[in-house]
Amino acid sequence: MFLQNSYENRSLIQNILRSTIWVEIIKKECYIASKFQEFFKLYLKVYSMSSNKYLSQMENWSKEDLIRELQKREEENIALKNQLQMMKNSENDNNTIPSSVKELNSFAILPKVCSELSKEEVARYSRQLILPELGPSGQKKLVAASVLIVGCGGLGCPSAIYLAAAGVGCLGLIDYDTVEKSNLHRQILHTEKRIGISKASSVGMSVKALNSNVDIIPFDVSLTSETALQIIPKFDLVLDCTDNVATRYLLNDACVIANKPLVSGSALRYEGQLTIYHLGGGPCFRCIHPKPPPPETVTNCSDGGVLGVVPGVIGCLQALEAIKVITGMGSTLSERLLLFDGLQGMFRTVKLRSRKNTCEVCGDEPSITQLIDYEQFCGAKATDKDKGLRVLQKHQRISVMEYKEIVDRKTTHILLDVRLPVELEICSLPNAVNIPLKDIKKLENITTIREMLSSLQTQKIYCLCRRGNDSQLAVSALQEELQGDYDIRDIVGGLTEWSHKIDSTIPIY
Ligand SMILES: [Zn+2]
Repeated sequence: MFLQNSYENRSLIQNILRSTIWVEIIKKECYIASKFQEFFKLYLKVYSMSSNKYLSQMENWSKEDLIRELQKREEENIALKNQLQMMKNSENDNNTIPSSVKELNSFAILPKVCSELSKEEVARYSRQLILPELGPSGQKKLVAASVLIVGCGGLGCPSAIYLAAAGVGCLGLIDYDTVEKSNLHRQILHTEKRIGISKASSVGMSVKALNSNVDIIPFDVSLTSETALQIIPKFDLVLDCTDNVATRYLLNDACVIANKPLVSGSALRYEGQLTIYHLGGGPCFRCIHPKPPPPETVTNCSDGGVLGVVPGVIGCLQALEAIKVITGMGSTLSERLLLFDGLQGMFRTVKLRSRKNTCEVCGDEPSITQLIDYEQFCGAKATDKDKGLRVLQKHQRISVMEYKEIVDRKTTHILLDVRLPVELEICSLPNAVNIPLKDIKKLENITTIREMLSSLQTQKIYCLCRRGNDSQLAVSALQEELQGDYDIRDIVGGLTEWSHKIDSTIPIY
């Protein structure tokens, strides 16, 4: 049962009370600044918080600080209320899902042997049972199968729901993350009410509501070199529904070592790809990509954007491939790569190379026989959280607070926003000049910048982007191209940091 323990229940309600009081206190403070300390002291007295350090910090807070704190506390409050509601719902629901697995040595998959389909199963699966290629024998294989879905996002949601609908007996669901509002346009099994709760549990609840026969094992953990081989060997098949290079290599190597097929999907902007690795003597991911790409060339959905329906299409196809592997129907995408172009409405399939005898992990004499440090190997994080580039030296960067002072002092400068024009339509700072990073080295743009510097009689350029990654690359590019005695810096953390620290009316996207 989801958070069934009454102690957890009580402590959750206490947290909500605390959080609500915070929200109320800070709301009042926004209007009655002088009374704030009294409210806060009263709060401390009533709830016996011993945080005098916090109190002394808050005495110096500005109205902007308080508004930010208020937003943070309100979001926390909504997330806690959602958790409580979920808990109440699960108490009234017979089809509850198990608590998320946090200790990996404590989970087991109960083997399902399906000798006969029950009357209920025949009725439920009747439309696919009458397909000659599947039939009752194929359905029994599905009921006895266990599939691990790594990533409960845009690809994981459609895969999970179709595999559950088709009757796959056990689904393992891995995701370290919690549901956020920006997930909902593509991660369609989560709901507004589940913002703040574990994605693995959220997908589990949706899946269980559709087909209560399916065993659900949600894992609230990151897949790491330590955890992967504790989980993967227990499942028949793995779906890679993640979106970063380090996890692709980790999953690939773990699946080769554990000898499991890996159905690999990806989606970005309007395009998707799909293939199966390590199946029936076919290649693995390393056979095709022995070396990881440079981290700065890799774009994920958070940076590049994605139309929600595109991972929807690829995720459904991942479920289809999994069903074919389990039942032995048709021909799979092993040794082939399916390419989907959503804008043109086109599918293409290209032949992939066959297994490489010299592959480091699946070759005849593999050099990788245990899992390595994949973040180090790829030079990139295995999560899209805190994906900060460090290209520039400290003296080439300024903080949002320092830039605010420059604006307030009216120091002459050029503010160069290097995002795409569509992003400036979402939000921008006054007087920003827009030259997207990809066009920054073009001669006409360099000429324009030189002319602006000369007409404003300034040497100062501040580059701005969404999170402070592209702005660093822009500074490096401009230093190369302008070749003069200029003061070119980037604004650390970009508009996101500006929204957090300076102006909370700027939307974060
Ligand atoms: Zn290989």
